Amino acid sequence: MAESPCIFCEIVARRAPAARIYEDEAVLVFLDLFPAAPGHTLLIPKRHYENLYEADEPSLLAVTAAARHAAHALRRARSPEGLTVVQLNGAAAGQTVFHYHVHLIPRRHGDNLRSHGRVAAERGELESIAGEIAAAYPVDEAVEEA
Ligand code: 5GP
Ligand code: ZN
Repeated sequence: MAESPCIFCEIVARRAPAARIYEDEAVLVFLDLFPAAPGHTLLIPKRHYENLYEADEPSLLAVTAAARHAAHALRRARSPEGLTVVQLNGAAAGQTVFHYHVHLIPRRHGDNLRSHGRVAAERGELESIAGEIAAAYPVDEAVEEA
């Protein structure tokens, strides 16, 4: 039996499904199941840390570097007009999954978004968007084109 019921650890271990975009030894990038907007992306360290206070510096740096790559791939794939980067710590801040993560939320003028969606996206749609973003890697090319 798993020691931790953390849903993001379950996704890392592939015991729970997710529309995966990118991963390396330290980081996993995947789509949010309840997107605030299409292409709403999450980045996590593969090691479990509850929040910014607990996470070690190499994990935070790895997530930040991965966020830069994912942002470029997302822009290349989806052409958002803006991108909100959010990271919540503690229930009072609105954190609902207690495994450190960074949100990348594609934005449009006037979209008036909340940081959390309320409806689960359809799995096939998530897989399709994740495939589009994954296909926009490698990022150094995307950066050059920007
Ligand atoms: P928080 O509120 O903690 O900053 O964000 C947690 C995010 O995780 C929310 O945006 C929520 O939609 C997302 N989420 C919750 N459960 C799952 C899940 O099982 N799979 C995926 N892909 N995202 C999830
Ligand atoms: Zn976890």
